[in-house]
This record gives sequence, structure tokens and C-alpha cells, in this order.
Amino acid sequence: MFLKPRTESDKIKILRILNARMNLPESDKQYFLNLKKGFEGEVMFDKLTEKLENESLIVNDLLLKSNNTTFQIDSIVIKETLYLFEVKNYEGDFYYQSDNFYPMNGNKIQNPLHQLNRSESLLSQLLLKHGYRIPIEAWVVFINPAFTLYQSPKDKPIIYPTQLDFFMKKLNASPSKLNGRHHKLAELLVSLHQHESPYKELPKYEDDQLKKGGTCKTCHSFSISVNGRRIICEECGCEEDLESAVMRSVKELKLLFPDKKITTNDVLDWCQVKVAKARISRILKKNLKASGYGQWSYYE
Ligand SMILES: [Zn+2]
Repeated sequence: MFLKPRTESDKIKILRILNARMNLPESDKQYFLNLKKGFEGEVMFDKLTEKLENESLIVNDLLLKSNNTTFQIDSIVIKETLYLFEVKNYEGDFYYQSDNFYPMNGNKIQNPLHQLNRSESLLSQLLLKHGYRIPIEAWVVFINPAFTLYQSPKDKPIIYPTQLDFFMKKLNASPSKLNGRHHKLAELLVSLHQHESPYKELPKYEDDQLKKGGTCKTCHSFSISVNGRRIICEECGCEEDLESAVMRSVKELKLLFPDKKITTNDVLDWCQVKVAKARISRILKKNLKASGYGQWSYYE
């Protein structure tokens, strides 16, 4: 049972739009790709936990605060024991040496075991503070089937891709007589989740730097054309209702410029579609709350 399902973060969504519409600095591009890959790995892990048959409470993607320190947890499965998972979607060959992880031809990366220890200890302090004593088992999960770790340590809490199947069977069979307190604990965790602004650590961008034009909902290509009430992608052939495409563009504008009052002209300028202004207005009026009058009206 998922108490807090995972959704793609606004930060990934914003970076995806920026990546398509401007030349992102290399470091921001890498940051975007890492976030996206991490998210894909976590979704892969959710596909496994959602198959757990015995009673369990699953709380995903938490940002918590303990002792004035903020920490992030990818996934928690509550049974009679609380299982904490740090999911890594690393791909390719890595090696382990002197308590560090290295890509085969690269520099030391942040040690996920240290990250795991830190989360485990902060979580356990947080739970104690709220009066919960529950055994915690913490694991680093390497989810990508194309991940290999040479010189891997034998005595660390790591689950390798080849062990996932067996581990999930064991987890499924682990004791799970849950009572009201377990449910309260899960609810507490969800309520303690911190909302972080997605606008931190983003590159600077201005409206006039960004490439304009509507995009395909599937392949994000700009090669789309309007045909009556539908828009058609010339790249992948996918079709979408004009209304839903316009509203998707509005969502993009709102994500990128949260304080902006959006007008029909803003949307026309953003989409660059050959559609009468009145039609765009009608779509906006139908889906959003209009404020102001006539040429000064904007939508919320
Ligand atoms: Zn397409």
C-alpha cells in the first residue's frame, strides 16, 4: 500500500523544459540527466515494492528534517521492521576501494553507504523524538541490471541487481502484523515531509532567452502542426487535442514563471501555433479563472 506515491518533481519538469528551449550550461545539463536517471531508477524500484503481497506500508520520496539537518529518503517499507532504501541507478562498471566507489574511468563518487548511514541515524533520532521505537534495516539498492561493482565488499548492506529477485521474496515473507501504531508512524512520516522550492539551484533564465513553440507531448519535438481541433507531431505522428496541448503549454509557463500573470498573448507567443487568438482565449476561459477585464485579463 503506497501512502505517498512518487511523482516526477517540478525541478525535473522545469529542467526538461529549459533543456529543450535553451542551451543549458553543461553542469546543469548533467544535473538534469542525473536527476532524471535517479527518478527512473526509483520508479523501477517502486515496480518491485508494489508487488509485495503481505501487508506493508510504503512511503516514498521523503525530505525530512532531524537535528536541523535535511535528508532525503528514496523509499521506506514498513512491516514489523522499518526498511529504508537508498536506490541508485548507476550504470556500467564501478570498483570499490578503501571505502570509496569509483566509476571505472573516473573520479570518486559520493559513497552511497555513507549517505545511507546518515539517513538511517537521522531517521532513527527523528522517530525516537516522536516516541517510536521500531527496528530499522537500511539498504543501498543498485537497481540497474547493467551495474557491476568490482572488489565489492561482502559485509555491507548492498543489494545488487542480481539479488533483487531473491531479496524481494524475503522481504515479502518477513513478519508483517501491522497495528494502528504502524499506520500512525507512516502517517507521521508523510506529515513530516518538507516541501522544497524547485527553483533553488536552477540556472538563470529569462523569457526572451527561451525558444518558443508548442511541443509534442510524447517526444517533445517542436515539429507540430495544427489540424482542426488536433495537433499532430511530424516526428512521431502522435496526435493531441488542441485544448490539452494549450493547457500543457500554460502549465509550462506557470512552472517556469510562477509569479507571472498569464495572458492570452503570452500563451500565443509561447505556443506559436497558427490558431486564432479567440480560440486560445476560449480554452483559457474554460479551464482557468480569469481576472481583470478585456485586453488586461489574465488567468490563474
Ligand atoms: Zn512527437
